[in-house]
Amino acid sequence: MHHIYLVEDEPHLHRVLAAYLEQEGWRVTVFSTGSEAQARVRDKPSLWILDVMLPGVDGFELIRQIKACDDAVPVIFISARDQDLDRVLGLEMGSDDYLAKPFLPRELVIRTRKLLERCYGVAKPSDGASVSIGPYAILLRERTVLEGTDRIELTSKEFDLLCHLVKHVGHAFSRDDLLNHVWGTEYFGSDRVVDDLVRRVRKKLPHVPIETLYGFGYRLVEL
Ligand code: CA
Repeated sequence: MHHIYLVEDEPHLHRVLAAYLEQEGWRVTVFSTGSEAQARVRDKPSLWILDVMLPGVDGFELIRQIKACDDAVPVIFISARDQDLDRVLGLEMGSDDYLAKPFLPRELVIRTRKLLERCYGVAKPSDGASVSIGPYAILLRERTVLEGTDRIELTSKEFDLLCHLVKHVGHAFSRDDLLNHVWGTEYFGSDRVVDDLVRRVRKKLPHVPIETLYGFGYRLVEL
């Protein structure tokens, strides 16, 4: 799973952006100051998203340090400052893309995906292959789950739920999110049906690590 480091000091903006990025199944770590991010420049995230204007250490100083550690790591700059200047400076310092504020979160998601694909190839498992979790092989296209050579029978909804969690490992979904995804937004019923569905999936696939987030929902834990 791709891990994205997002450095942005506006709390509202970083929450929104992180939520959009996580919705794509990426893991996101947010830093709200340049100095917090500076302490982590030696980490190897899949990609950095840097705001230019930050209190303390700014985006330009950060990219200099990031590129000094590993100049292959992709970086996207976001900035509300003099746009042409930041764009040129950013590109000179090795940024791979640039977005001027204000932008639609969706646009950042698209740029991020393009850059990740360019650097790491097309993301899996959305290519329709199989995913293995513990002793199970989940064949996404065939909608089949195997344990060894034994096929485990799942209902269509059980499979939809499993598949959604598998494609977004680590992502915390509320019951409402899962209800909307598995039953559709037209469904008007109690979100307790989600609990029942999870219970059935756990019973059939006891080695799939679905974590309960009390009072919120569920998440598939990374193995
Ligand atoms: Ca800022």
